[in-house]
Amino acid sequence: MSYVDEVYELVVSKNPAQPEFHQAVKEVLESLRVVIEADEEAYRKEALLERLTVPERIIQFRVPWVDDQGQVQVNNGFRVQFNSAIGPYKGGLRFHPSVNLGIIKFLGFEQIFKNSLTGLPIGGGKGGCDFDPKGKSDREVMAFCQSFMTELYRHIGADTDVPAGDIGVGGREIGYMFGQYKRIRNLYEGVLTGKGLTYGGSLARTEATGYGLLYLTEEMLKCNGKDIAGKTIAVSGAGNVAIYAIQKAQQLGGKPVTCSDSTGWIYDSEGIDVALLKEVKEVKRARLTEYAAARPSAEYHEKKAGEHGVWTVKCDVALPCATQNELDLEDAKALVANGCFAVAEGANMPTTLEATEYLQKNGVLFCPGKASNAGGVATSALEMSQNSERLSWTFEEVDSKLQSIMVNIFHNLDDASKKYGMEGDYVAGANIAGFLKVAEAMRAQGVC
Ligand code: NDP
Repeated sequence: MSYVDEVYELVVSKNPAQPEFHQAVKEVLESLRVVIEADEEAYRKEALLERLTVPERIIQFRVPWVDDQGQVQVNNGFRVQFNSAIGPYKGGLRFHPSVNLGIIKFLGFEQIFKNSLTGLPIGGGKGGCDFDPKGKSDREVMAFCQSFMTELYRHIGADTDVPAGDIGVGGREIGYMFGQYKRIRNLYEGVLTGKGLTYGGSLARTEATGYGLLYLTEEMLKCNGKDIAGKTIAVSGAGNVAIYAIQKAQQLGGKPVTCSDSTGWIYDSEGIDVALLKEVKEVKRARLTEYAAARPSAEYHEKKAGEHGVWTVKCDVALPCATQNELDLEDAKALVANGCFAVAEGANMPTTLEATEYLQKNGVLFCPGKASNAGGVATSALEMSQNSERLSWTFEEVDSKLQSIMVNIFHNLDDASKKYGMEGDYVAGANIAGFLKVAEAMRAQGVC
């Protein structure tokens, strides 16, 4: 059996009931096959793929807190410190009821390659908790965040592991966690990114993932003789990534016509009104029904099992920006049938393996999230640099660095896909380019 297949079987047997982790490993290993098989015995002898797929450290902990009724609640907290070959662990924290160890491992694994692709010195990690901030009072969110950090603080630090936000973790949650870290450690350091601007945050961090997604998409289209201007765009999600993807798409002349949340989706024939979407989601933290109520051109559709939501809308470009496995084979077929020619992932692994294959086989330009959503973590690394320098850069400075990072990422993966004879396969290109740097650093550092 080939080394790649052996390691994949080992991952499945040693990590039962973690389907998202298996899926992420399968996608990466399949793309690396050509690289590994060219030098199989050396990789096998060094157990490089086993070391790559087993996290350096997994921290799992109890998070007790008291709700507004005086009831004690208990949640499950995680931090997976996956790989520190090229820098301190870096990756977000996700607060969502669906969080479990397998999901955090899939996200941490993806993060290794994403961080490598940015060209910045950051290793891969991810964390989170099965806590649901939705419907909680600010005091409850604060009590939870303080309890979460009361354990996490011993495992992180500005030169060790620097978490950021993800689903359910925005500026409010980062602020409460930063305050608790500082209080316990008596140390003012850049231990978290995504901080508020008054206490060490970076301008453009809030916008970075969505803006970066569009910078990369624009470069991918340009290199394939196309352009965003005038194109109809289907976007899923209505959170941090989706909102700023919609905003930048409009600035580049595109027309995003959809967005969604966990209960329903919007089709707005006039194009999404970003100011209204921000008011509904960032200020009121309300459902999308409120968007539809305030906007005559918008249709609201309740989410129903078996229905395909935003992907049934006719579009040229699709940007999945909500969550993993939200775009399946049926959705891919609908997109192709409707003439969609490019898909770039804003979320992490939003497209199933079958859907990805179908899109690629049908000539759709497809960019995986580990490349196209890397603008968030890249700007987090820029926040770390500013914290170390004790300086703040202007919005334009950060935004222009972000833009050149995203353009470079696209060219790195494009070059890697060409070098290994898979031109246009940006999934393989991203995995190979991300892997080669990490593998070289791991080899240089010996068996560890
Ligand atoms: P947010 O919490 O800000 O928004 C997530 C959005 O997706 C919300 O609109 C949410 O709906 C919706 N959503 C979440 N889960 C589901 C679900 N199961 N079904 C349908 N809709 C769902 O998160 P972000 O925008 O930060 O993150 C979105 C994705 O982007 C994630 O995959 C994340 O890992 C990835 N990402 C984020 C980065 C960042 O910088 N924020 C960086 C790189 C990747 P509702 O409002 O109802 O909760």
